[in-house]
Amino acid sequence: MTGIQASTSSANRTQIGIFGRMNAGKSSLINALTDQPSAIVSDVPGTTTDVVRKPMEIHGIGACLFLDTAGFDDTGILADKRIQATEKALASCDLAIIVFFDSDTSLEGKWIAKLKERKVPVMGVLSHMDAYSSQTIQERVAALEKQYGLAVIPVDSTSRHGIKDVLQQLVNLSSGKKEQLRLLDGLVQEGDTVVLVMPQDPQAPVGRLIQPEVMTIRECLDRNCITICVTPQQLPSALASLKNSPELIITDSQVFSSVHELCPKGTQLTSFSILMAGLKGDIRYLSQSAAAIESLTENSRVLIAECCTHAPMEEDIGRVKIPNMLRKKIGQGLKVDVKAGTDFPSDASDYDLIIQCGGCMFNRRYIMSRIDQAKAAGVPMSNYGIVIAYLSGIMNHVTLPKEEQ
Ligand code: SF4
Repeated sequence: MTGIQASTSSANRTQIGIFGRMNAGKSSLINALTDQPSAIVSDVPGTTTDVVRKPMEIHGIGACLFLDTAGFDDTGILADKRIQATEKALASCDLAIIVFFDSDTSLEGKWIAKLKERKVPVMGVLSHMDAYSSQTIQERVAALEKQYGLAVIPVDSTSRHGIKDVLQQLVNLSSGKKEQLRLLDGLVQEGDTVVLVMPQDPQAPVGRLIQPEVMTIRECLDRNCITICVTPQQLPSALASLKNSPELIITDSQVFSSVHELCPKGTQLTSFSILMAGLKGDIRYLSQSAAAIESLTENSRVLIAECCTHAPMEEDIGRVKIPNMLRKKIGQGLKVDVKAGTDFPSDASDYDLIIQCGGCMFNRRYIMSRIDQAKAAGVPMSNYGIVIAYLSGIMNHVTLPKEEQ
């Protein structure tokens, strides 16, 4: 679980992946872009063993996170792991830089195609420009731009020549991005009363709130809603104290059923997890997929995909509560696997249903890449809050977030 953070979390930063061959100059480029020697730079090819993340504020984009990936031509002992990490970085990046150095650019071309397939805006950098004459640079830049249909900027990271142009090009690329979705789009209006039900039980982190709760409170306040935070035990007296019923109740999914019983007629009801599903994913697919529960048998396999890693607790929602609810309906033989963090199968076709948590730790692009994988494998994929609402028989009473247009 994650708590209140003073700085912008990775999930809310524009993630910029830097891709290229081993020691093409990716780490030096990040050092020059961020003006900080944070990435590992070595003369020995392949020594960048994992994705190095470096936050930065870019004027014109906002909070960003540079991802320094391993070389995609890696052949070392850990090559497979490095390439997997680079693939995962590709799944989450909002913008990308391909670093060209070698005269053979066939591998670069393959990765540009992968990025374009995922609709990631991409630019090129020709590194080590100090190694070429200015005429050669011009010719190479023109040839690369023509071949790959992207802007290519020559850079010398040591002297920082070209760095300002790279930052400006990133701003240009990001300006085509859609305005960010917000959690409560279409659900509330200014002045509405919103009640948030947040159990502070042993599963809640000590001394802090989880990220979906923090994000929701902040957005309610930004929207000038009257925002009332209660525990499930305080809900009856909070409702009784109000002159008019609230417009919306947002609850932790774990107490969906009991909160539904108390929800006044005419008040919308949803959960933090469902709001996150709308923000990070394809709400239509995630909600429609819940119906796949009806086709499950004791021979079926379900995957619970949780984005944060934490020590399982007695009443853990992903490891205990949802599996118990499913087995109660389907039978004790139902096989339920749990994967945490970025541990998501590259081939999901072994599963009959995937149930994803709210995914507050990752950005929308990464969660959407999981949904795309599930769709490609023909596997229904739903969400914690939606599945709990479905299994509790209250799906028809739950308000879903607005779909992305
Ligand atoms: S929504 Fe997922 S990633 Fe966020 S706190 Fe809950 S389990 Fe962790």
